[in-house]
Amino acid sequence: MTIAHPRPAEARLSVQRQSVQGRCSECGAAALQAYPVLSEGGWFDVVKCGGCLWSVERKAGPKLGPIQLLSDFI
Ligand SMILES: [Zn+2]
Repeated sequence: MTIAHPRPAEARLSVQRQSVQGRCSECGAAALQAYPVLSEGGWFDVVKCGGCLWSVERKAGPKLGPIQLLSDFI
């Protein structure tokens, strides 16, 4: 049996954050980042301020977040 998702070699895992142009509408910092977040409501794609963690944008993301199923590529 082939394991599709082997155990990660890294001690800690984290999502990739992408810098976003613009300023935080709450504190004014130019430190916006986009990344997926898992909450009690499921996965969300958010743009948050790196300074105060204010959510500038939050929309429902893919059902499994960053996990992509092989069936997604068919
Ligand atoms: Zn802020």
